[in-house]
Amino acid sequence: QSQDVKILLLENVNLVGQEILKKQGYQVEALKSSLPEDQLIEKIQDVNVIGIRSKTQLSANVLRHAKNLIVIGCFCIGTNQVDLQYAAENGIAVFNSPFSNSRSVAELMIAEIITLARQMADRSMEMHHGVWNKVSNGCWEVRGKTLGIVGYGHVGAQLSVLAEAMGMRVIYYDVINLMGLGTAQQVPNLQALLSGADFVTLHVPEIEETKNMMGEKELSQMRNGAYLLNASRGSVVDIPALIAAMKSGKIAGAALDVYPNEPGKNGEHFNSQLNAWGEDLRSLKNLILTPHIGGSTEEAQSAIGVEVADALVNYVNFGTTTGAVNMPEVTLRSLTLDEPNHVRVIYIHKNVPGVLRRVNEILGDHNVDKQMTDSRGEVAYLMADISNVNVSEIKDLYQSLEDLGSRIRTRVLY
Ligand code: NAD
Repeated sequence: QSQDVKILLLENVNLVGQEILKKQGYQVEALKSSLPEDQLIEKIQDVNVIGIRSKTQLSANVLRHAKNLIVIGCFCIGTNQVDLQYAAENGIAVFNSPFSNSRSVAELMIAEIITLARQMADRSMEMHHGVWNKVSNGCWEVRGKTLGIVGYGHVGAQLSVLAEAMGMRVIYYDVINLMGLGTAQQVPNLQALLSGADFVTLHVPEIEETKNMMGEKELSQMRNGAYLLNASRGSVVDIPALIAAMKSGKIAGAALDVYPNEPGKNGEHFNSQLNAWGEDLRSLKNLILTPHIGGSTEEAQSAIGVEVADALVNYVNFGTTTGAVNMPEVTLRSLTLDEPNHVRVIYIHKNVPGVLRRVNEILGDHNVDKQMTDSRGEVAYLMADISNVNVSEIKDLYQSLEDLGSRIRTRVLY
């Protein structure tokens, strides 16, 4: 029953998303901030669905206590705050919103490219302190300059189009071969990008290979007086190396939206306790610091709210995993749940030989209208619509599937 579904939303999840969930009749508790681990463990034991953004850490240690949890909604792009493997192995699907805010990030980059080229942030800061300082030295137009995009995915490709519209030349580096939009050109390696660009902007995921991807060596390969922008993830840039490169004048300006350690909530002091380099960064010239706002627009937040809330509803009500980041994608059309004696069986199981035969022995007593199964790594997901099931038989059906050794989680929807 939908009114039995308990949902906990943290980190001020967008109201449009909250409304979609409330309309379903679910019990929704929405909190403004993330929770420290002990409080999270306490709360998560009870809920069936949790919605988070980027600050809440859903580690294996936390998820171990989440006995009733079936699905996690990340109302953001990144999912590295969740132990995806542990979640999959315990039958918890994870959804995110892969590109609702790509445009917002790309637009911010455009604003920052011009702001850096014109030293606008410094001029504005000076004026706020009553200083009139009219400068043209070291200030440039962006027309005809080269933008180097590292990671040509959702954000990178969108930015490419906007930058060309301003008359910039665009080159990009990506680990996969991708067709350039407009006249953008792919370069074969990072070094070629760094030495060929006036502005370098990073749009790669946070993975082992991108950790400190921009360190001392890479910064030295950039053009003298070039600019660096990072709105991807904080781990991608070696901050002490950037500080040194800016102090020496090698890098003429930088824009950072993300940091290795970010405060948990608004109002917390930026990096004063978290890192030795916090004060250093703040003393640098022509450095734009923003608090992870790349995707923070009204448009992006409501798009994320709708996308993730819809995915959660489809998973809770129908078991649909389309778009899940840690489960095989399984869906069946023409659901007949509202017809009498029809049920949908969801059986998440270990991907080992012989499971389907045993499951079908159990389902075989009924009429299997449709069935789909798929696997991803160690985990497989089976969905079957069956008819000729009396309400009194549902419990037995559920128990027989639960008793199989391969079982991770069974759901019978009716
Ligand atoms: P995406 O997955 O669409 O694109 C990433 C691209 O990077 C892919 O094309 C991939 O092939 C490429 N890539 C992977 N490893 C690489 C490597 N080692 N070298 C070069 N290229 C590599 O991701 P996206 O949606 O464009 O997001 C990009 C980044 O921006 C992510 O880290 C995301 O978390 C971050 N992001 C930040 C904000 C913000 O508020 N600041 C908002 C949205 C996204």
